[in-house]
Amino acid sequence: NGRNLVSYFCHESDTQQRVVAAQLLMLSALQDALQRNEFFLEYQPIRDLRHERTVALEALIRWRKADGTVVPPDQFIPVAEQSRLIVFIGRWVIEQVCRDLPRLQAAGMPDIQVHVNMAAPEFLDDDLPRELMAIVGAAGIAPSRICLELTEGVIMRRIDKTLPIMRELVRLGFEISLDDFGMGYSSLSLLKTLPISSIKIDRVFLQGVPHDRDDCAIVRTIIDLGLNMRLRVIAEGVESATQLGFLRQFDCTQVQGYLSGRPVVLASLLAAAQENRPK
Ligand code: C2E
Ligand code: CA
Ligand code: CA
Ligand code: CA
Repeated sequence: NGRNLVSYFCHESDTQQRVVAAQLLMLSALQDALQRNEFFLEYQPIRDLRHERTVALEALIRWRKADGTVVPPDQFIPVAEQSRLIVFIGRWVIEQVCRDLPRLQAAGMPDIQVHVNMAAPEFLDDDLPRELMAIVGAAGIAPSRICLELTEGVIMRRIDKTLPIMRELVRLGFEISLDDFGMGYSSLSLLKTLPISSIKIDRVFLQGVPHDRDDCAIVRTIIDLGLNMRLRVIAEGVESATQLGFLRQFDCTQVQGYLSGRPVVLASLLAAAQENRPK
């Protein structure tokens, strides 16, 4: 009956409308958040296993709402990615990192590098290299202090556009890391083409180490592949000493995870650096 059919579709589009309405609400809330400066960064250490020290930090965004609740990035970045807003959030992140870096350097981490996550819409913008240069230049920071983390999904969506932008960024001195390695398209020829200096093994694979044979095989193979291509290999989500032992055994370059340190705000990093300084 034609009528029933019509009412069914009406119902469908009703739910769809509700989803769209919720996203619009979230988008306008995020816009306000940016204006009110409600975003903040936490930094998680990336530890080098050859030099036995923290060589880099990953900047991770959070949103502190007016009522004090803290919203994790998984709950708002995907929505922001649906619009240009992500570009403005991304610029805010880089600018904040550039404000924080000199303080970290002054606190006894002169050669620390900061990893910054980048979403697809940011990376499809031809202006990105110029804008990044303007931001680091104004802050007096060398581009080599910044490592941009990109997922395969981001790169592959428009490889024709992203590859020239990546090459330009590397020419300017920025580093690029391939994030969530193993989760996406993972074309091996892609790995050969990309101007990257490191790959990050996604933490879903680490979760199976050491009890899951397949996960162990995957992690070992990614480490081997990366090292053979002269890339640094960073393991994400390292939570136990057993996992760390496994990674050491197979010569993984760097580790990141709760074992070596949770993400913390700048003030905590600075306080810790103060404490570790020779008196
Ligand atoms: P990601 O890039 O894969 O970042 C690593 C995530 O793993 C972070 O979650 C971090 O807190 C978490 N993590 C680190 N070590 C461990 C561990 O040992 N165990 C477990 N269970 N988790 C660990 P977080 O901060 O919630 O970020 C989630 C995602 O949000 C990130 O995943 C990234 O894709 C995105 N994101 C975060 N900050 C930004 C940003 O500034 N811009 C963009 N575009 N995306 C961001
Ligand atoms: Ca990342
Ligand atoms: Ca990941
Ligand atoms: Ca990710």
